[in-house]
Amino acid sequence: MLVTLNEVLQKAHTEKYAVGQFNINGLSWIHAILIAAEKEQAPVIIASSDRMVDFLGGFQTITAMVKNLIAEHQITIPVVLHLDHGLTVERCKQAVDAGYTSVMFDGSKYPIAENIRLTKEVTDYAHARGVDVEAEVGTVGGNEDGIIGNINYASLEECVALVQATNIDALAAALGSVHGNYQGEPVLGFQEMAAIQEAVSIPLVLHGASGIPKHQIDHAITLGHAKINVNTESNKAWLAAIRHALKANPTTHEPQVILEPAREAIIQTVQSKIREFGSAGKATIHA
Ligand code: 13P
Repeated sequence: MLVTLNEVLQKAHTEKYAVGQFNINGLSWIHAILIAAEKEQAPVIIASSDRMVDFLGGFQTITAMVKNLIAEHQITIPVVLHLDHGLTVERCKQAVDAGYTSVMFDGSKYPIAENIRLTKEVTDYAHARGVDVEAEVGTVGGNEDGIIGNINYASLEECVALVQATNIDALAAALGSVHGNYQGEPVLGFQEMAAIQEAVSIPLVLHGASGIPKHQIDHAITLGHAKINVNTESNKAWLAAIRHALKANPTTHEPQVILEPAREAIIQTVQSKIREFGSAGKATIHA
């Protein structure tokens, strides 16, 4: 069942667990994420990063793949189809029109006034069509789909201004997390996080969760994070399984022999993250 972001985040935010967002890099990921979430009876967010959308066949193809897999496999858990790091207002509108139930507009590269103006345009369009919106203040650093950026901490005043002006549903306040690999232990700004949550009160989103130790994840959930994004760890598990399968089957020309264990590795990763985030067994979102 496809649902909106708010439908899964409200309960998570109140009950202090987080719903996992898992990024897709092909059909295997969608398949694996749905199977893992169904096994765990957890709500789940399937996300395509905007930079990956064309590689994956476009918005309508992705929507059709997700919907068809849900139907074919009789998936019963709530599934959000989300655009991660929407690059432009136009791209967010395309995702809404194609059937996504949630979009992130990433205006973090703009001065705050421009970020607010564009985020509001996305929110007005999406909300009028029953779709929810996430926005970003500050910048999540690191390497995402080959693009490298620096960390830029979210300011409390800018977070409050954006939430009040736009009526977004979830806020990614960048506080030291990075996409891709961490150098050493991540250092998240928990004091700033507490102040931002106190001031905005809507669910917060933690980007760059791969490699963040469990005690920091737990702390972030306590301080209002109800959505946690994972991409790198699934991809690393996928790649390790492929390397292993290639070594074990040096003469095969059957893609399935190599790709089946890789999909299984994504399933294991997603299941373990769902348990870590506390969303296992939380599939019932409506009273
Ligand atoms: P990781 O690269 O840490 O998995 O983060 C993914 C993410 O935040 C996608 O928006």
